[in-house]
Amino acid sequence: MPDERFIYFDHHATTPCDPRVVEAMLPTFRDVFANASSSHAAGRAALELVENARAEVAALLDCDAREIVFTSGATESINLALKGVAALAGPGAHIVTSTIEHRAVLDACAALERDGLSVTYLPVDADGCVRPSDVENAIGPRTILVSIMAANNEIGTLQPIEAIGAITRRRGVLLHCDATQAIASLSCKVDAISADLLSLSAHKIYGPKGSGALFVRRRRPRARLRPLFDGGGHERGLRSGTLNVPGIVGLGVAAKIVREEREPEAARIRALRDRLLEILKEAIPDLIVNGSLARRLPGNLNITFPGARASTIVASLADVAVSAGSACSSPKTDGSSYVLRALGRKDAALLGGVRIGIGRTNTEDEIEVAAQRVIEAVGTARARFGEESRASSCEPA
Ligand SMILES: *Cc1c(COP(=O)(O)O)cnc(C)c1O
Repeated sequence: MPDERFIYFDHHATTPCDPRVVEAMLPTFRDVFANASSSHAAGRAALELVENARAEVAALLDCDAREIVFTSGATESINLALKGVAALAGPGAHIVTSTIEHRAVLDACAALERDGLSVTYLPVDADGCVRPSDVENAIGPRTILVSIMAANNEIGTLQPIEAIGAITRRRGVLLHCDATQAIASLSCKVDAISADLLSLSAHKIYGPKGSGALFVRRRRPRARLRPLFDGGGHERGLRSGTLNVPGIVGLGVAAKIVREEREPEAARIRALRDRLLEILKEAIPDLIVNGSLARRLPGNLNITFPGARASTIVASLADVAVSAGSACSSPKTDGSSYVLRALGRKDAALLGGVRIGIGRTNTEDEIEVAAQRVIEAVGTARARFGEESRASSCEPA
C-alpha cells in the first residue's frame, strides 16, 4: 500500500473505485450472487440490478437502455464495434481513424487490414486535433465506419467530435467514438455527437476494472454488428457470457455519480490543473505543454521539460505517480510516444512527456507538494541528461 505521502496523479491510466461504488457492489458478492439469466427469484434480483445499471449508463449517454451492451471494458467494446461492423461489410470495406487513437483502436484496425479491409489513419495538427475536413476528404464509396476518440489518453486533447459526427451522418457512414477518457469530465450525449457506437470503461470513471459498455444505436441508423463471441446469446446476442453482475453494478453507480457530479467536479479539477501548471511554469519557464491547452481534458497535463528525459523524471518521483511517454527511454514500450511524434514535435517525442492526470481524489495541498517534487525531479533529470543521452541509442526519428 502506498503511504499517505503518496500522491496519485495517474487518473488516465486508471482511477480508484469510488467508495460508493464499492459499497453498491458488495451485496452482489454475498446475497445477490445468482446468475442474472436464471429465471428464479434470486436470478431476477440480480437481473434487476443489471437493468438498473443499464438505465444509469443509458442516462449518462442520453440513449435507450436497450442500446447498451455490457462488456469487459473499453478494449472489448472497441474490438466489438470495429470488428463487428467490419465482419458484416467484408474485405474491401474502408475505415477512417486517426494516428493518435488508443492502441485498442489502432491494433484492431491493423487486424482488419490483415483481413483485407483498408484503413486511413488521419494525422493531427500541432495541437493534437483531427481536422474535420480531413475526415470529409477521407470518406469514399467503400467507407463504412469512422472511429475517432473524444479525448486522447496521453495528451488529453479533445477531438471536434460533433463536427465529425455531422459529416459522418451526412455521408451515411457510421461513427464510433472512443469516449473512455472523456466521459468522466465531458458530456457525451450520443445524439449531440451523432455517435452510432460509443465505447467506455468503468475503471476510468471510478468504477471497477474489467467492466465496460458499448453503445449500439438501434435506429436512424441501426448499427449492425457481428458478435465477437459465440455462446448463450446474452446482451441481445451481441455479447455472450454470464453477466459480470458486480462489475455491471459498479459501472452503473459510477455512471450515476459522474452524471450527478461531473460539472462541478470538472471545474474543481481544472482549477487544480491550472494551479499546478502555474507553479511549474514559474519555476521552469521553458517547459512545453504538448497538445492544445484550450481543447483539453480538465485534469490532463502532458509536459516536456527541455534537457530532461520524462522517464528519468518519472523514475525519480518516488511519492508521486505520473507516467512518461517517450520515444525509446520508457522502461516499457507502452506505445505512448507515437502520440507525441504525431504532433510533429521530434524534440518532445525524443525526451518524452510527463503525463499528469488529476482526478477526483486530488486536493489543493497535493498540488503544492507535488509541484515541488516535480520541480526537484526535473532538476535531477537535467543534471543526468548529458550522461544519459551519451549512453542511449535513441536517435531523432
Ligand atoms: C483505458 C483506455 C482504453 C482501454 O480501456 P480498458 O477498459 O482498460 O480496456 C481505450 N481507450 C482509451 C482512450 C483509454 O483511455
